[in-house]
Amino acid sequence: NSGAKGASSEKGLIEKMKSSGKTIVIFFGSQTGTGEEFAQRLAKNCRLYGLKALVVDPEEIDLEDLQRLNEIENSIAIFIMATYGEGDPTDNAQELYDYLQRGEWDLKGLKYGVFGLGNKTYEHYNEIGKYFDKRLEELNGSRLIPLGLGDDDVNIEEDFVTWMDKFWPIVCEYYGISASEQDISMRQYKLLNIDDVPEEKIFKGEVHRLNSYNRQKPPFDTKNPFMAPISVKYNLFKGTDRKCLHIELDITGSRLRYEAGDHVAVYPANDAELVDKIGKLLNVDLDQTFSLINIEEDATKKHPFPCPTTFRTALTYYLDITSLPTTQLLKELAQYANDENEKKSLQLMASASEEGKAHYNSFIRDEHTDLVNLLEKMTSLKPPIDHVMELLPRLQARYYSISSSPKVHPNTIHITCTVVEYETKDGRQCKGVTTNWLLNKPVLDDLKSKVPIFVRKSQFRLPFKFQTSVIMIGPGTGLAPFRGFLQERDYYRKEGRLVGKSLLYYGCRKRTEDYLYQEELEEYEKNGTLTKLNVAFSRDQAEKVYVTHLLRKDSNLLWNIIKEGGHIYVCGDAKNMARDVHDLLIDLCEKEGGMGKTQAVQYVKDLGQKSRYVLDVWS
Ligand code: FAD
Ligand code: NAP
Repeated sequence: NSGAKGASSEKGLIEKMKSSGKTIVIFFGSQTGTGEEFAQRLAKNCRLYGLKALVVDPEEIDLEDLQRLNEIENSIAIFIMATYGEGDPTDNAQELYDYLQRGEWDLKGLKYGVFGLGNKTYEHYNEIGKYFDKRLEELNGSRLIPLGLGDDDVNIEEDFVTWMDKFWPIVCEYYGISASEQDISMRQYKLLNIDDVPEEKIFKGEVHRLNSYNRQKPPFDTKNPFMAPISVKYNLFKGTDRKCLHIELDITGSRLRYEAGDHVAVYPANDAELVDKIGKLLNVDLDQTFSLINIEEDATKKHPFPCPTTFRTALTYYLDITSLPTTQLLKELAQYANDENEKKSLQLMASASEEGKAHYNSFIRDEHTDLVNLLEKMTSLKPPIDHVMELLPRLQARYYSISSSPKVHPNTIHITCTVVEYETKDGRQCKGVTTNWLLNKPVLDDLKSKVPIFVRKSQFRLPFKFQTSVIMIGPGTGLAPFRGFLQERDYYRKEGRLVGKSLLYYGCRKRTEDYLYQEELEEYEKNGTLTKLNVAFSRDQAEKVYVTHLLRKDSNLLWNIIKEGGHIYVCGDAKNMARDVHDLLIDLCEKEGGMGKTQAVQYVKDLGQKSRYVLDVWS
């Protein structure tokens, strides 16, 4: 269907590049917006070198055009590609990935460079970036810029800046150019204040289509979320300041379908107090209506977010105002600092020098300086709001592992989420956007109380056969999808089906505080749906007890289940728990299965490939 896309768009990729004199094309594969922001940033920086670059969402073009890039003299194709989930491409890069895999292309003459976005916490670190880099060469492309890899677990911002630092000398040599000395405007969008738009023409937070929130039309998906009322909401924790919400979203009449193990995505809104603060700090009337319009007429993206809208709506629904500022933001805002020291500090942080990186790390990362905090610390910094808005990333939907089964709850989707709240080193309280927005949302049936959602299919599925045994490992909120699995197994067991063994390894801090769904789990054990309920309370005694300790004790039982074709599921914290469980499984194969280390590693890998060892983890 890529051919249809190319034909239906006004101009194809090659024609667009030719008519606008662009030689560099930057493709991005982005799930949470960082990849897209890097691509836009690289394109902006091209202008400093007198080069013109086109940023392209691979989903929006005719992929055949990639083969025709050699029609453009001295063209370069850059791929900024994130790895998502279990070593998968992002949704928007899936088709491009499939295309490359099929290998029907001859990319002779294609000069390319790849920057991958990944997270070392996950097993398949930067698999997609590495694949693109290797595959483009196999298809006869020639690598102009060495592969760059960004690690979101440490400092992806720094990795990207370091890669760009290597990128420019190579590109300058290729084109025989140097950076411009002139003061070139970095603006991509111009501001248009509008005073006479009818109310119904102004975006009020809709993700894509105007008025889609009050005139709902299925099918509901990422660009057209369903406005779900909250029918039930309560805190699952007792006797502690931490909170974990159980939420039921009503999907009656939406035609939304889900399966146990799927994810639900939630589009949140920023805290009204923070939005007000930005308005005050930048001295703007937040209720002014405006549009931001791309200064390039043939740009694929006319506005950075839905326009016309008001500053308040943009800061509330469209922009990420709480993530830490990028070096690009600091670089472009430096011109608005009236105090020389503040200006120098911003410029230094934006530079790729070792001193600059160290300053960024201590001032922004260690001190957790977000936008509001930056504007409060640097009192002479008074940028125009439209320039700030151009630089902020889009506010992203957050995913939750659905904690119900459609067999039991066809008209509701359940979420189990810990409310994110933490203190910075200097004692400021920071709050997670979505979980706090959900916490404060009233349980009413008006539009304002509804939650924009869509369902994302996952690979986290119960075995096809009911008789297959399952081992479920999910401490903390990692329990969420297993609640759905258990509801489903319970349903089938009560229908009289023969259901295999179900073992749950769950962990929390204290029995009396954060034991999620205790009564339900104990009931499942009593009625036989759960063959064995294993709970590790980490803080009820002097030594820590984790799920991994309980798994180790059961290694013989677990090995027998694995040997007989059982499935293993792991959900929750990717950083420590999932890694520990992975290592434990390898140990188990060595000890119980009598394998050598290499064989055990391969065995666990094979289990993954056969979808008998599946992860649903996040960091
Ligand atoms: P945000 O505003 O996004 O803030 C979170 C950020 O704050 C962190 O990324 C980190 O940068 C920062 N932060 C957090 N704690 C600290 C700290 N102590 N110090 C410094 N910085 C800190 N969550 C659930 O609760 N239940 C689920 O079932 C669930 N399922 C998920 C499934 C998937 C596939 C994925 C990807 C994530 C899942 N999550 C789940 C996580 C969820 O998507 C959100 O990330 C989480 O709820 C926080 O969102 P938020 O908007 O409230 O916080
Ligand atoms: P949690 O309450 O923090 O942890 C659940 C249980 O797991 C606790 O008993 C904990 O013990 C234990 N545990 C800690 N390390 C472990 C390990 N290596 N192996 C096995 N068990 C271990 O659970 P949660 O609130 O669901 O959070 C889990 C993790 O996900 C946390 O790291 C949290 O930061 C992260 N998380 C991130 C987000 C986000 O914002 N992206 C949202 C939710 C959760 P102790 O605490 O006593 O050591």
